[in-house]
Amino acid sequence: MLLNIILDVVIIGSGPAGWTAALYAARANLNPLVFEGTSPNLPGGQLMITSEVENYPGFPEGILGPELMALFKKQAERFGAKVRTENIAKVDFSKHPFTVTTDDGEVIQTRTVIISTGANAKLLGIKKEKELMAQGAGVSACATCDGAFYKNVDVAVVGGGDTAMEEANFLTRFAKSVTIIHRREEFRASKVMLERAKSNSKIKWELGNEVEEILTSPRPPLNREAVSGLRLKNTITGHLKEIPVEGLFVAIGHQPNTQLFKGILPMNETGYLQTTKNSTKTEIPGIFACGDVQDSVYRQAVTAAGSGCMAAIDCERFLESEGH
Ligand code: NDP
Repeated sequence: MLLNIILDVVIIGSGPAGWTAALYAARANLNPLVFEGTSPNLPGGQLMITSEVENYPGFPEGILGPELMALFKKQAERFGAKVRTENIAKVDFSKHPFTVTTDDGEVIQTRTVIISTGANAKLLGIKKEKELMAQGAGVSACATCDGAFYKNVDVAVVGGGDTAMEEANFLTRFAKSVTIIHRREEFRASKVMLERAKSNSKIKWELGNEVEEILTSPRPPLNREAVSGLRLKNTITGHLKEIPVEGLFVAIGHQPNTQLFKGILPMNETGYLQTTKNSTKTEIPGIFACGDVQDSVYRQAVTAAGSGCMAAIDCERFLESEGH
C-alpha cells in the first residue's frame, strides 16, 4: 500500500538522537514522522534497559532511563511530531522521493530521512544478565555511565578488546579492584591499552575463562537481588570457580543497527554508518544519520541528542536548498 502524500522527513529510531531530531524538525514545521520501532528493538533505545541516568545534564538528582526517554518523546510530540510504533523493513534511497516500507508493507514517501537506529551493546546471553541490567542491580554495559555507583567494591569486566581495557582502567577510579575476564590468553586490545591495564595495580586478570553464571544475593536497604559474584568456567579445562564481585561490566563490543542499510549506505568495517566530518550527511543527499548508529567513539545519550539536533538542522537546510 502506497501512502499518497510526500512527507518532508521520516525519522527511523527513537533514542535520544531520534527524539531530538524530531523535536527540532517539528519546531521547524517539517511535520516529522518517527518510526519508534517495536520489540525486540525496544522503542527508546539503550536507555530503556538502564536504570538511573546520572550524567544527562539538567537532571541533578538523576533520572530513570525509561522516564528520560518518555520525556524526550513527550517534548517532540508537543510540537507536532507524529509517532508510529512500527519497524521499517525496507528503504529505497535510489530515487526521489525516497520510500520507507513498514513491516506491514505500507510504503511511505519522503523527501528526507534521518536515521537514528542506534547500536546495541553485545551481551553474554546468560541467565539474569538483562534483568539485572534493567534493574540497575549490578550488570552494566557502560562504565562511563555506571562506574560511579561502584565505589570501593570489587567489580569485573568481560572482554579482551580496547573497550574492556578502557572500561577497566576507568573503573579503577572508583572500584576497590577490577577483574578482567577474557576467554583467551591473547587480546584484541591494542598494545598500548593492554599495557596500560597491565600496569594498573588495581586490575586483576582471569584469562582463559568465561562467565558461566551470575550469582546474586539480596542487598540492603531494599533487599533486592543484586550481583554478589560470578561463576567462571575455564575454557580449556572446564574447571569452575567463583569470584566475589558486586558489579559486572560487559565490554564485548557493540552492534550498530544498520542491517537495513547494507549495500545502500557506506559503512565502516564494523558496520557503523559513515557521515561527512562535522555533519550528519551521508553519501546520499537528503539522508542523514545521527546518534550511535554513526558513532562508535562517544556513545553517550547527550552526544546522541546533540547529533540529533545537527541532523534536523542539516535536514532543514537541505529541504530549503531544494526549494521546499
Ligand atoms: P572488539 O570486537 O575489539 O573486542 C571484543 C572482545 O570481546 C574480544 O576480546 C572478544 O573475545 C570478546 N568477546 C566477544 N564476544 C564474547 C562473548 N560472547 N563472550 C566473551 N567474550 C566475548 O570490541 P571493542 O568494543 O573492544 O572494540 C571495538 C572497536 O572500537 C575496536 O576497533 C577498538 O579498537 C575500538 N576502540 C578504541 C578505543 C580507543 O582507542 N580508545 C576504545 C574502545 C574501542 P575474542 O578476542 O576471543 O573474540
